[in-house]
Amino acid sequence: MDNQDIVYITGHKNPDTDSICSSLSYANLKRAQGIDAVASRAGELNPETEFALNYFGVEKQQLLTDVHTAENDGKRVQLILVDHNENMQAVDGIEDAHILEIIDHHRLGGMQTAEPLFVRIMPVGCTSTIIGSMYFEQKVDIPKKFAGLMLSAIISDTVLFKSPTCTDLDKEIAQKLAKIAGVDLHEYGIDLLKAGSNVDDMTAEEIVKNDLKEFQLSGHKIIVSQTSVMDSAAILQRKDEILKSMRQICKKENYDMSLIMITNIIEEATNLLFFGEPTEMVQDAFNKDTADNMIFLPGVMSRKKQIIPQLTQAAKKYPKD
Ligand code: MG
Ligand code: MG
Ligand code: MG
Repeated sequence: MDNQDIVYITGHKNPDTDSICSSLSYANLKRAQGIDAVASRAGELNPETEFALNYFGVEKQQLLTDVHTAENDGKRVQLILVDHNENMQAVDGIEDAHILEIIDHHRLGGMQTAEPLFVRIMPVGCTSTIIGSMYFEQKVDIPKKFAGLMLSAIISDTVLFKSPTCTDLDKEIAQKLAKIAGVDLHEYGIDLLKAGSNVDDMTAEEIVKNDLKEFQLSGHKIIVSQTSVMDSAAILQRKDEILKSMRQICKKENYDMSLIMITNIIEEATNLLFFGEPTEMVQDAFNKDTADNMIFLPGVMSRKKQIIPQLTQAAKKYPKD
């Protein structure tokens, strides 16, 4: 990295609160260290993230969906990836980008780079927990608004500490950030999660695409979306309409399977809807009868810990090609 470089810090496609807030907060930390870093986002904000940015009075960062279109003033474009490390979840043109750093809390997804890079991946509940820790380690003051954003990301990713991905470090950093941000952690947390769980106005297609991530499992191209609710009844009544939309997206975008986690954050349980092949993969992964394209999974809240590893393992029995 030299002065001829411009650094974009981006989260994953279909950005969630962690991807947006980690990008903004890490760009601030980098700038505090004299590095010309620009926060960018790989897609539009969801209602929960909008609530957080409005609450703390922060403007959303610039949209950057393709590395080739990045404004660079003749400088070399470098990328820092936060909250993801898989090509399929990254901005378009990632193959041609110089990746300077990865700060993340997900499984490794097979990315290759041309040059050595700084990587910090920890099995914690949220990328912002890692970035918050870096501020404290490096003794850089955290402006109130960025403390608020990182706190929002931790609350979102850990579902107010209820997700099995949540660690003691997430709780410790969140408490420190809440103090700096000047909010009551629990009260603010409920308001934030409420803002993200109103699905009444969402179309079936929006539900299928909400918080969507793409994976390649033993040759199967699958998408797993997640929608969090405080009451599941209304959305489950729309099951047929949602399944129809899942069938359409599989056909149109050539996915083998679409899965949607409807996660009830009060009951701490997930209804998993699925459409596509092989259904045996879902049956084996969760040991449930898959006859009505939906299975009920008590205690399941985390895609990365309670859905993807199980599907990855089961998919090995049904490799494609
Ligand atoms: Mg994320
Ligand atoms: Mg995250
Ligand atoms: Mg998430």
